[in-house]
Amino acid sequence: MDQIKIGKFISSCRKEQGMTQAVLAEKLGISDRAVSKWETGKSLPDSGIMLELCELLNINVNELLSGEKIMTETYNKKAEENLFELKKEIEEKNRLLLNLEFIIGIPSILASLALCVIAGYVEMPAGLRIGIIVFAVVMFFMIAFILVGIEQKAGYYECQKCHDRHIPTYWQANLAPHMGRSRYMKCPACGKWSYQKKVLSKEDAEGADLKK
Ligand SMILES: [Zn+2]
Repeated sequence: MDQIKIGKFISSCRKEQGMTQAVLAEKLGISDRAVSKWETGKSLPDSGIMLELCELLNINVNELLSGEKIMTETYNKKAEENLFELKKEIEEKNRLLLNLEFIIGIPSILASLALCVIAGYVEMPAGLRIGIIVFAVVMFFMIAFILVGIEQKAGYYECQKCHDRHIPTYWQANLAPHMGRSRYMKCPACGKWSYQKKVLSKEDAEGADLKK
């Protein structure tokens, strides 16, 4: 997506609506620095705020993502292109989140284990030994809970029976038995239990599925 073009478009639409950056920011409940960053092409509006922004600018999401007003004839083609781009970006974000799981997870697990080994083998007062072990165990579980949270929010789980893709609740994901990233959960669509596969996007796309 052409962020510079989108930025200029946001700026011109905002002026058309007679708003300053500060006024637009206030209506959206964000800082005017954020608005300035969009308009200079340094960042894109968060997907959570896009609809509200479009409403205030009197444009639609496709126009926002194209960085221009769209005539009806070319609208559908543009819409498809933009949705595809947006989907790719969301997938990429999810992929990064899942990588983060390993980046945080592996060192933390090693650190917990190292603390337990130290507590087990190094001479020290009993109180300190217990303190270190409790700390290591608490840290281990805290990290595990955070990681399940990341995994639950990044992408979707696909039912193996009806292939419905959905996001489970945090506890559903946390308490489910798992093999790798597949979790044994009840499908909200068909009600059957299966090892649901982690997928990056809501719809089927080539190469989007994680190999695990
Ligand atoms: Zn199902």
